[in-house]
This record gives sequence, structure tokens and C-alpha cells, in this order.
Amino acid sequence: MERGAAAAAPSGDNEAELSAKWVRIRTKLQSEVGDVEYRTWLKQMVLAGVEDGEVTVLLPTRFLRDWVRSHYGDRILKLWQAEEAAVRGVSIRVGTGREAGFAESVALPSDAPPASAPEIASTSRSYRLGDDLAAPLDPRFSFDSFVVGKPNEFAYACARRVAERPASQGFNPLFLYGGVGLGKTHLMHAIGLELTRAGAAHPAVAYMSAEKFMYRFIAALRAQSTLEFKDQLRSVDVLMIDDLQFLVGKDNTQEEFFHTFNALIDGGKQIVVSADKSPSEISGLGDRLRTRLGCGMVADLHATTFELRISILEAKATRANADVPPKVLEFLAHKITSNVRELEGALNRLIAHANLFNRPITLETASEVLHDVLKAHDKRVTIDEIQRRVAEHYNMRIADMTGARRARSVARPRQVAMYLAKQLTARSLPDIGKRFGNRDHTTVMHAVSKVTELINSDAAFAEDVELLRKMLES
Ligand code: ADP
Ligand code: MG
Repeated sequence: MERGAAAAAPSGDNEAELSAKWVRIRTKLQSEVGDVEYRTWLKQMVLAGVEDGEVTVLLPTRFLRDWVRSHYGDRILKLWQAEEAAVRGVSIRVGTGREAGFAESVALPSDAPPASAPEIASTSRSYRLGDDLAAPLDPRFSFDSFVVGKPNEFAYACARRVAERPASQGFNPLFLYGGVGLGKTHLMHAIGLELTRAGAAHPAVAYMSAEKFMYRFIAALRAQSTLEFKDQLRSVDVLMIDDLQFLVGKDNTQEEFFHTFNALIDGGKQIVVSADKSPSEISGLGDRLRTRLGCGMVADLHATTFELRISILEAKATRANADVPPKVLEFLAHKITSNVRELEGALNRLIAHANLFNRPITLETASEVLHDVLKAHDKRVTIDEIQRRVAEHYNMRIADMTGARRARSVARPRQVAMYLAKQLTARSLPDIGKRFGNRDHTTVMHAVSKVTELINSDAAFAEDVELLRKMLES
């Protein structure tokens, strides 16, 4: 026997016995926790081996490892001990046992297809292609924890609707798109969580990134198991593919996705797709796929507004049971505008810091603790640059930034430029006025409040301004 991973059983067990035990344990677990929970958390477990009374079980991500460790660790140990009294501990680690199995890499050597996994592994079902087809759903990404505001209310409503009644007319496929960190993945997980909630009808839900889809597909090709792969994909009730833009230029994978897509839609199954752009804006997508993607509901997540950022921060602070003064929340919402992930990260850091040093959170500690984050956001931007970029963006002459023309087509962009100058530079209102053709500071003030008002009432306009801000800050 020279199969490294599973060697050294405690009491001279051979691998076949060991894996039979493992299968029994898994089956017991599954009947104890129920199908959904099992699929979500435990299905991807791989037995790596038993040595000196220590069982090693692998899970593919840290998140899964921690979850399984804290929620099922004791139970798994008990079950092992029932099978094998000599077992003293179960160690749950990150790993895939991949060494031998299903490499998530295009570089998978073609002479090492999944089928050639060691014996012990082939009985542990996780090795089989697509057994772990779907990535686990993160329980934090629920509808409950999603904060709804103007920029995302439409996408949220569509996601809710799909979770309530999958595959209903007009909502299939659901195409969610928007910039980084605006909640696409969160909403997809929320749909999955809602559908697989205890008491729900338990449809088979598969969520995966487009990248993973591609790796799986390529690996299946190499292992000559594309049929199995197709069958598995086509057996789900709800297929969610995240970050579809990854398939740009990957023609074969796109083709495969297109066929899967059609088979599922024709079979009355629900598809949810996310991307960073709308179907028509993703260049490099085949026309047929593009057309079909646009056939159901297309919903975009707009850039966050100040209000939404505040609501999100409030919700997260409450959830974390942290006492964060409104002034600090405003400060963060004002300074970190790019995406919710960063905003969340900054808040978490503040809270962690406050807990660690047992100090209240104040404006001072905030700017101290977040020094580096804020500095990145505070990049020096000049008024010249702002004027130039904004003029370019709205297709107007730069001379009109300082000129006297009052036509709306130039006055509005000028106001946007003033607003950005106020936001992104340390210049005073009179200073800014001077740079815009010697205008009065009250004109700048008016511009700032007008633009603020428009940002709050017009999502498309808000996105425009946000885009400009990002260009200037990058
Ligand atoms: P995307 O997939 O669009 O890049 P994510 O869904 O991964 O973005 O969101 C990034 C982070 O921000 C996640 O932690 C998510 O929970 C959080 N987030 C985004 N939008 C919201 C929201 N409206 N309410 C609460 N959390 C949000
Ligand atoms: Mg995402």
C-alpha cells in the first residue's frame, strides 16, 4: 500500500474499512442534520487520513473549516469514536485532498484525472466531479442583512421575487449587474439561502463563480467526463453564476454555459447571473448568449449614496453591538465611497480596535486607526484635473468650466465639477469659486447642494458622479 494520504489507520484497518466507516459517519450526519444543512456545510468534507488516533478531515475553505469545526466538530468526533474506539481527536483542516483529485486549475495534468484519486478518496464522494459542484452559501449574506436603499431596491426586489417564486415568467434569467462591492454576490447568496431555508421546498440550488464554472468544465473535458458534468448542472433547479464577465473570451466555456442555460430555462429552471456590466455592455460575449441573458429581468445595482452608506454602517454597527457615534458613521460614509466591502472593512477595524484597547470610538480614533485607508482615498486631486475630466465626461469644452455660459448643458457639469472640487480637494468655497471663472462662494455652495440633491433623487446621475469621483481618485 503506498497511498500516502490515508495510510496508517489506527488499528490496522485497511483503507476499504476506513472508508466504509467514513461513509457510515457521513450518512449518519446527513440524516441527523438534514439534507440542506448537509449539502451546505458537510458535503465537501474529505477524509485525509487517520494517524495515531487522530482523524484528519479536509474542507476547501477556511470559512467552511471554521464553521464545521465549531458546529459539527464534536459530533464528528463522537461518530468516529462510535466506529473506532481508538480515535482520540478529529482535526479539521483546510485542504482539498486535491493532491490526488480534482484540481481546480487549468494546469491539471491530463494524466491525473479525478478518477485516478487514491482509493480512499474515490469512496469519499467529494472527489467525484461536481459533487461539490456548488460553492457553499455564506449564512451572513441573507436578505435580512441586506440594507435596501434607492440604489439597490430594484435589484433587491427582483432577487426577493426570484427567491419566492423561482422560474416565474419575466424573471428568468435574472441578471444582476453593478460595480465591485455593491452587493451582487450578497443577493445571490440570499436567494440561495432563502430557497434552502428549513421548511422550504428544498430545490437543488447551485451557486458558483463563472471562474469556477470554467475550471470545472475544463477539468471535466480533460477527465473526459463532460457528460457527467452536464448532467449534474442540468439537474439543479436554480443555477447561479457569479461574475460572468470572467467568461469573456473563453469561447468553449461560454458555449457550454449557453447550452446549460438553454437546457435549464427550457426545463423550467431558474438562472441567476451576475456581472460587472449589463449584457449589452460586456464585450466578448457571444451574441446568442447576450441575447438570451437579456431576455428575463435585468437589474442593476447603482453606486451607493451617502444615505445608503449611512444605513449600511448603522445596520452593521448594530449587528456588531458596537457603539459608534453618528459623527463617526458620517465621517466614514463621507470618506469611503467606493464600495460597501471597504466601508464594512473600515468599520470592522474601528470596532476591533476599540474592543482591543477598550476605548470608545471617536472621530480622532477613527482617523488614527484608518489612517492608511483614508490616505488612499484622500489622494490629492487638483481642480484643473477635475475640470478637465468632467468636461471630457460631459463632452463640453473645458473653457466652459470657467466661462459665463448658463445653458443647462454646461451649467450642470460645471456644478458637478464644483461639487467634486469641494469633495476631493481641501480648497475653500471662495477658492473654488475663483477657479471657476471668479464665481462667488455662494454659487459654489448652491452647486454643492444642487448636486447633492440630484444624487439623492436620481440614481443614474449619482452613478455618473460616482464614476467621475472614482476616475479622479484612481
Ligand atoms: P459584489 O459581489 O457586488 O462585488 P458583494 O455582494 O460581495 O459585492 O458585497 C461586498 C460586501 O458588502 C459584502 O460583505 C456584503 O455583505 C456587503 N454589502 C454590499 N451591499 C450591501 C447592502 N446593501 N447591505 C449590507 N451589506 C452589503
Ligand atoms: Mg461578487
